[in-house]
Amino acid sequence: MACVFCESRENLLYENNHVVAFYDRYPVSKGHVLIVPKRHVESYFDLRPEERKAIDDALFAVKRHLDDTLHPDGINLGMNLGFAAGQTVPHAHLHVIPRQRGDVDDPTGGVRGVIPERKTYP
Ligand SMILES: [Zn+2]
Repeated sequence: MACVFCESRENLLYENNHVVAFYDRYPVSKGHVLIVPKRHVESYFDLRPEERKAIDDALFAVKRHLDDTLHPDGINLGMNLGFAAGQTVPHAHLHVIPRQRGDVDDPTGGVRGVIPERKTYP
């Protein structure tokens, strides 16, 4: 079965033994990066410990790259695990979404926005 993330091995920002990182084709912000395990698994929870460590190593490398290039004021990290949580590509991946002050009117709550009516606090 063809998997878009199994085939994403070009224009890489970062690579180590277990993961690759590249810019999202449909970025929600400038510099939106995906960190993707090389092995095809659907969920983060299917990954081996060394693959989870490789994601963390990639995350720190990507953070340094974003700091050097975009100087973000903040970052959202996110994984959509399962269809109910919004996962559209059935290959585990971590979203790294750099944020700039003022990129939305009110950033309060951040990833809480996955359930829009509960994003902000009472
Ligand atoms: Zn895949």
